[in-house]
Amino acid sequence: MAGAGRSRDGRILSVPSRAHDATTARTSVDVHVARVLELLAPLTPRPTIILPLAQALDRVTAAETVSPIELPPFRNSQMDGFAVRAADVASAPVSLPIAGEVVAAPGTPAELRPGTAVRIMTGAPVPDGADTIVPVEDTLEANDHVSIARGRRVGEYIREPGSDLHIGDVLLPAGQLLASRHLGALAAAGLTTVAVRSAVRVAVISTGSELVAPGEPLGPGQIPDANGVALAAAARSIGADVVFEGRVRDDADGLEAMLDAAAALGAELILTSGGVSMGDHEVVRDVLEPRGAHVDVLAMQPGGPQAVASWPASRGAAAIPIVCFPGNPVSSQLSFELFVAPTLRELAGRLAAARETRVLDSPLRSIPGRRQFLRGRRTPGGGVTTVGGPSSHLVAALAASDVLIVVPENVTELAKGDSVETWEL
Ligand code: AMP
Ligand code: MG
Repeated sequence: MAGAGRSRDGRILSVPSRAHDATTARTSVDVHVARVLELLAPLTPRPTIILPLAQALDRVTAAETVSPIELPPFRNSQMDGFAVRAADVASAPVSLPIAGEVVAAPGTPAELRPGTAVRIMTGAPVPDGADTIVPVEDTLEANDHVSIARGRRVGEYIREPGSDLHIGDVLLPAGQLLASRHLGALAAAGLTTVAVRSAVRVAVISTGSELVAPGEPLGPGQIPDANGVALAAAARSIGADVVFEGRVRDDADGLEAMLDAAAALGAELILTSGGVSMGDHEVVRDVLEPRGAHVDVLAMQPGGPQAVASWPASRGAAAIPIVCFPGNPVSSQLSFELFVAPTLRELAGRLAAARETRVLDSPLRSIPGRRQFLRGRRTPGGGVTTVGGPSSHLVAALAASDVLIVVPENVTELAKGDSVETWEL
C-alpha cells in the first residue's frame, strides 16, 4: 500500500500509518536492547524453590550448601589388600597370619590384634588398631599367612573421615550451575534436595494464518510453524521453563485468547513471532499497539520490526512482559539471541554466549546504517566463512551455520582477511 494507509480507526491516510522506507530513521539496536532489558527487570530476583536432586540438573543454586556429614563419613580403605600395623611390617620382609576379612558393607569390624593382618576391600571400614593398608598386589598369600616385602608408611591408602570435606564446610556455593558432579557431591553428603533459583516460565506464541503444525500436510500457501519449535528450544536450552506453546491465526480475538491462556498457565515472559511489521494484517500490532506496545523498526538486518508490550496491559507492575519478534525464522531466532537470551542466561546462572573475533575467509558487503547479522561457519585457524545469503528466510543455511557474523552499522564492505565479531550459536 505505497502512498496510502489506514489509521487504527479505519480512516484512509495520505501517509501510511506504518510507513517505512530508507529515509525514515530507524531505531538503534542498542536502544531496543535497553528497552527489553528494562521490560525484563521484574524477572529478577528469582524466587527460591527446593528441588529433588533428580530434577535439579542445569539449575542454579540459590544458596550455599554445607555438608551435614564428614566426607568420607568413616575411615576406610582405598585399596583391596591387607590392613596391618605399620610397626608390624617395619622389619619387612615379614609374614603375618590373616585374622579375618572386612568388606564394604554395613557394620563395625573387630579391632586388629597386634601381629596379624586383616584382608580388606576398597571402601571397607579400617579396623581399629590398623594404621596402614598394604595393597593386595604387593603381597603373597600362603597357608593363611600374608607375606609383605617392605615396610609401609602410617596412613598409606587410608581415607580419613573429613579428608574430602568436614561437616559444616561449604560443599557448593550459591550461584552454582548444577552439573552431574555437583549433584553427585550433594548425594554423597546424604542430601536429597537442593535450593535453586526458579526457572523463568516462558510462553511462546507463533502468529500467522499461513502456519500449520510441523508435519501437517501443507495446503497451498501454508508453511510449517518453525519458530515455535525453535524459540521454545532456545529458551529451554538456556534454563527457561517453557510453560505454553501456541500457534494462532492472524486474528485478534484468537491472539487475545492465547495471551490469556499463557497468563493462566503462569507465564512470566511471553515471546511472540510474526505480525509485528508493516503489512495490513499484523495481528500482534493490532492487538498490542492500542494497549501501549512499543513498536519499532530497528537499524538491523535481518529483524528490523520489533516490539515490546505487556499483558494484560491493565495489571500494571504485575503485567507479563511480551517481547515480539518478526516472523521470518532467522529474524526471530537471532532476535531471541540478541534481546532476550542474555537476560535469561544470567537469570539461569549460565555463562554469556561466546563472542570472539575471527578472520573472514571471503569478502562481504553490508547495507549502510544497519547492523547486519550474517550466518557463518568457523573454519580451522580462527577463520569464518559466510553461509547462505543475508535473507531472513534461510532456515537451512542457519542450521548449517555455527556462528552469527556481526557487521557494525557503519561498515559496508569487508575484505577477505578482515576481522569480524562472531557470536557462537
Ligand atoms: P511476519 O513477520 O508475520 O510478516 O512474517 C514474515 C515471514 O515469516 C513470512 O514469510 C511468514 O510466513 C514467515 N513466518 C512467520 N511466522 C513463522 C513461523 N512461525 N515459522 C516459519 N515462518 C514464519
Ligand atoms: Mg505474519
